[in-house]
Amino acid sequence: MPVAPAKVVAVVRGETAMRAFGRILAALVLVGVGLAAVVLVRTFSMKAPPAADVSGVVVGPPVAVDLAQAAQHLSLAVQIPTVRHQDPAEDVDGEWTRLHGLLDTVYPTASGKMSKVELASRTLVYTWPGSDPALAPVVLMAHQDVVPVSEGTEGSWKHPPFSGQIADGAVWGRGSVDDKGSLIGIFEGLEALAKAGFAPKRTIIVVSGGDEEVVGHGARAAADYLKAKGIKAEFVVDEGQAVITDNPITGGKLAIVGVAEKGYGTLRVTAPAAGGHSSAPPADGGGVVTLAKAVTAIAGSPFPMRFQGPGADTLKTLAPHAPFVIRMAAANEWLFGKLLVSQMGKSAAGAALLHTTIAPTMLKGSPKENVLPQDATAWINYRIAPGDSSATVMARAKAAVGTLPVTLSWDRAPNEPSPVSSTTSWGWKAIAATAGAVAEAPVAPSLVTAGTDSRFLTPVAKDVYRFQPVEFELKDVEMIHGTNEHMTLTNLAKMVQFYARLVETAAG
Ligand SMILES: [Zn+2]
Repeated sequence: MPVAPAKVVAVVRGETAMRAFGRILAALVLVGVGLAAVVLVRTFSMKAPPAADVSGVVVGPPVAVDLAQAAQHLSLAVQIPTVRHQDPAEDVDGEWTRLHGLLDTVYPTASGKMSKVELASRTLVYTWPGSDPALAPVVLMAHQDVVPVSEGTEGSWKHPPFSGQIADGAVWGRGSVDDKGSLIGIFEGLEALAKAGFAPKRTIIVVSGGDEEVVGHGARAAADYLKAKGIKAEFVVDEGQAVITDNPITGGKLAIVGVAEKGYGTLRVTAPAAGGHSSAPPADGGGVVTLAKAVTAIAGSPFPMRFQGPGADTLKTLAPHAPFVIRMAAANEWLFGKLLVSQMGKSAAGAALLHTTIAPTMLKGSPKENVLPQDATAWINYRIAPGDSSATVMARAKAAVGTLPVTLSWDRAPNEPSPVSSTTSWGWKAIAATAGAVAEAPVAPSLVTAGTDSRFLTPVAKDVYRFQPVEFELKDVEMIHGTNEHMTLTNLAKMVQFYARLVETAAG
């Protein structure tokens, strides 16, 4: 049967279209293959980032420690309730006097080597002079105060919170980890070194804040004191991060060192209102409605999450040790950056590492259910990520509320985020190498989302690091400021070894 000319044209056109489609498909396959090749080459040629390089550091040897005695000392420290309350009138100053006395008594050799000054808020600064004044000092920090035990939760403790009981292979009580664990760990380490005849080349300074859990006046005073003496420390080590045994990146053990901490600020949002009887409310609902709109607008304008800075550096540093998929994503951030952000941002803790967080926490309206408020106020707590500032927070909040009739002000002066410390400096290498040796784990930098005393020392130190060499599962972290805080003897031993070996490594 003859083919109609129109049909011939259609077939020819169809063939042309098919060929074009084939060419596009082939090109796509080529691009896909090329893309896959690039992704794979980048994945397999991925090198460990500079933070993982601790070459050239010789970590000092372990020291001899009487662990039973160290546990006894920590127990005694926990039994002294140096509690900082919301209302300072409840604080018992004599407890700090007792703690200072304990340190003098149980660490006579180290105390004999060091000069001591007392500053604001019962803060102590000890100095063990080094033989080479040309070397910048090293500062070890641990605060003396603890948070209260929440009323009504005392009965949930396995051992009473200020008993300092040594049971089930641990020292129990408030402050056993945060932060008397560090304080006793530092002093046990220094005592062991002093007894062994160790003489530092580099000056060792111990700063023990007396009010970290409330305001940190003591740490500020310590910074002023060091500044007045013209000291610029090589590095500072304070609490803040630890060894996590079930980290979600590799599933294994990981020593995390905080290289920066977030800023802190609480924004007060106030909606003025006329007040009056609630039987005749204004048409717009009044101040509470305006306030609700403002809070919703502010919380509805979150800071974008970014896979950058110290919050992302943990994954970047660990990627070579991580399962293939994570390694591939980290090696090809240009392609998987958004995916990494969405995966990390799934958990509240992961999201907090990648942006400034906005948390509305307190509300105030009228004092009675049938009274219209004369003003309605909300408090919004921010944790400001490195790269942002209190000024960018205020600007974003103002833009979010637009023309709503509310006033915005800081409840008290906000703390800006800390500078980000180096992950290639000699100080980093000394800390990372010692942490890695004691924890027997890979080491990675990270961001501290809470606050520590060490932020006040950034002007008097080249680098500031936040790390306690204790090993936790992620779920254990709840006990800090919570119920059943305890320091296992295994962790206590690691504490002592870390501080002693860090001093040997950095100052020997
Ligand atoms: Zn603490």
